[in-house]
Amino acid sequence: MPSIFTKIIDREIPAEILHEDDVCLAFRDISPKAPTHFLVIPKKEIVSLADLTEADEAIVGRCIIVASQVAAAEGLEGGYRLVCNCGDDGGQEVPHLHFHVMGGRKMTWPPG
Ligand code: C5P
Repeated sequence: MPSIFTKIIDREIPAEILHEDDVCLAFRDISPKAPTHFLVIPKKEIVSLADLTEADEAIVGRCIIVASQVAAAEGLEGGYRLVCNCGDDGGQEVPHLHFHVMGGRKMTWPPG
């Protein structure tokens, strides 16, 4: 099911893209919650973590590797947080699997 992130993948709406390969895309979050805040999404239309199957293992692995590589490229040597909101209770608003990477400030725990 296409979402606003499909439009970003297809360049129908703008985003500041930090990385792209055959499997995933990384771009800056339009409403950053930390000095550095970007999203990594699979190009495949997967709604959420709850929809993953065994066949998606390499896709998710690739997304997390890219999250790590882009975080390094963004200079987040002090650390960062990787977040994946799943479903209503998890606070997910966009129904396309995405991993948030936030850094550049001290994170608090637990998240709200
Ligand atoms: O995890 P959740 O679904 O709540 O996060 C969606 C994220 O997508 C938000 O942080 C929002 O700012 C971001 N977003 C974006 N560009 C858009 C629409 C949403 O970066 N065009």
